[in-house]
Amino acid sequence: MFSAFLIKYAEIGVKGKNRYLFEDALVRRIRLALKKSQGEFEVRKNQGRIYVEALGEFDYDETVERLKHVFGISGICPVAYTQDEGFEKLCETVVRYVADVYPDRNLTFKVDTRRARKNYPKESMEINADLGEAILNAFPEMRVDVHDPQVVIHVEIREQIYLYSVVIPGPGGMPVGTGGKAMLLLSGGIDSPVAGYMIAKRGVQLDAVYFHAPPYTSERAKQKVIDLARIVSEYAGPIYLHVINFTRIQQYIFEKCPHEELTVIMRRYMMRIAEKIALETQCLGLITGESIGQVASQTMQSLAATDQVCGLPVYRPLIGFDKQEIVETAGKIGTFETSILPYEDCCTIFVAKHPVTKPNLKVIRRHEQNLDPEIEEMIQTALETDERIVVGGDA
Ligand code: ATP
Ligand code: MG
Repeated sequence: MFSAFLIKYAEIGVKGKNRYLFEDALVRRIRLALKKSQGEFEVRKNQGRIYVEALGEFDYDETVERLKHVFGISGICPVAYTQDEGFEKLCETVVRYVADVYPDRNLTFKVDTRRARKNYPKESMEINADLGEAILNAFPEMRVDVHDPQVVIHVEIREQIYLYSVVIPGPGGMPVGTGGKAMLLLSGGIDSPVAGYMIAKRGVQLDAVYFHAPPYTSERAKQKVIDLARIVSEYAGPIYLHVINFTRIQQYIFEKCPHEELTVIMRRYMMRIAEKIALETQCLGLITGESIGQVASQTMQSLAATDQVCGLPVYRPLIGFDKQEIVETAGKIGTFETSILPYEDCCTIFVAKHPVTKPNLKVIRRHEQNLDPEIEEMIQTALETDERIVVGGDA
């Protein structure tokens, strides 16, 4: 019955003169999301609205699912088209529409007409009243409520007549690409994919970096990170994933530094390397999955110690989240099942029994000086052997 979708967007509607930029970005994102789907679609802007029109056969459920992954969409309204064959025919069509879409008709409703074609022979108010009456005649169990109806039946009079009433919630947020680009530190854990999702939701395109420590971390651990990047890319679009071989650096820190400081020092080197890649790839910030107090390396003192090595801003969207809340989001966006696969993580292998929770910056810096100058060469080598994987389509 449905052959198109009206796309609702809340936040991007209020951007004043920049509005068209956001709308165009949303149109591009919708096109990208539907490119891999079964059917062919035309996506167009029309008088402050975005329509997705099927140009032939299409899979309704699949299309809705893909649209639910496009940030910037607040609601997806399936639209039924009908030819203008006079008002009586329209009444019949609307009654049939209600019969099909609402099997349980114990509902309050109103009709809301928009007359985009001004030469239509009836006024909007009159159309509302007459169609309402036709519906009531057909289904006496329905009731009109003009103030707070359960269902609003929208009728748009254009060249054709459009009917819609169902609003499927979209993910909200802003179209990816409107907010610049940032570098996600993506591990195989639960938190960092959620962090990436949240920043992408604000319109930010993602690149990612994963620190791999073979043979301590296996190929399967790396594959898991690629899989997580792929799931995030269903929302964020194609992601450039940099796989950095961190083994040598990690071993060297392990040899030279007090073990209780390992995690903090390692994290500082990860940030330094991530920032170098970020600066070369036009990223405007780094993203991590840290939240205050979750583990020793995420106390306020430890976070300050990691922040201190970065010039770029570090975005930590989960900073105030409880683990349970993060787990819920991971479940909702589809990363949780992959995140909990039991493959080793480079940080857990080199982790100390009693890591410092309040690292002293002066002490940390002194210990880091013992790593110079060799560590600089190791960083250089790591950057030169950076393996780049495009995840989620042709970037
Ligand atoms: P996650 O679930 O994201 O792994 P976590 O609770 O295990 O988080 P940590 O291991 O302390 O936390 O890591 C904190 C953050 O540092 C991660 O959210 C991630 O952004 C980054 N990070 C940790 N390990 C790696 C890695 N091997 N490669 C890339 N980033 C990493
Ligand atoms: Mg982790």
